[in-house]
Amino acid sequence: MKLDLPEHTAPADAEARKALAPVICYPVETLPRPDLAAYRAARAGWEKIDELIVPPREAGAFTVPAGCFFRIVSVEGPQVGDLNLWAQGNLQERFFSGKTRALHGTHVSTGDRLWSCLPYLRPLATITDDTLDWYGFDAFGGSVHDVIGTRCDPYTHNLLSHGDHYHHCCHSNLTRAVMQATGRTKLDAEMQVHDVLNVFMCTGFTRDTGQYFMKASPVRPGDYLEFFAEIDLLGALSACPGGDCSSEHSSDTAACYPLKVEIYRPQATPDGWISPAPNRYDRTHGCG
Ligand SMILES: [Zn+2]
Repeated sequence: MKLDLPEHTAPADAEARKALAPVICYPVETLPRPDLAAYRAARAGWEKIDELIVPPREAGAFTVPAGCFFRIVSVEGPQVGDLNLWAQGNLQERFFSGKTRALHGTHVSTGDRLWSCLPYLRPLATITDDTLDWYGFDAFGGSVHDVIGTRCDPYTHNLLSHGDHYHHCCHSNLTRAVMQATGRTKLDAEMQVHDVLNVFMCTGFTRDTGQYFMKASPVRPGDYLEFFAEIDLLGALSACPGGDCSSEHSSDTAACYPLKVEIYRPQATPDGWISPAPNRYDRTHGCG
């Protein structure tokens, strides 16, 4: 947060220093672009093989085989979802929100990929459709589907509310979902929960203080965010207690709705089309 009054004197060339043009940290021109036409063609005749309803203020876990699609769908009312993803056979390989943000920006949409953590660093999933792609950025700098938030959790809530305990935060919901899906102990399950993709959430940073803000999600029933699973995935989705996140979270105050996860298997997968990116840990040029 910026100080109201600076404590230090600016140098004589301060304005010139501020006027320097920014440079993109990670130019992505060298990243292979997903062939969206091929992904979309693969949806023709696909078959829904599973679906899951995530109740309000709870989470649910699901698996998606490599080569299948999954959708997170808004049902009944505006609702934000907190998504975690892991490589199904190795929960140490998990979604890396920070590097996904560094590569694709603060908010993700069609054509962006969800990358796994170091030392793996490969696409876990590719976003193949987004019915909220019309939103873009609003006048406040807000947009949807952010990779800047972390997940609401009882520890931060306790820190800020001086002792209040609330156990349907997304962190707690995701922990219980992982326990149920994997049979792990509570502590072990909790250690697998990581920073999320905030599905449907509308967020940004205030221009004056740089603070993380949220505002009512523009999501309507029927909207969805669609992914292609690049590897076998375990997912967990929490229907955030903040509902559409227009006022507050970490309480039972907001109106909350369920979310639906739908999993689709394409009729046929073209030979050689699905070729999961190499796990970089297997390469010889890992961390020295
Ligand atoms: Zn939440």
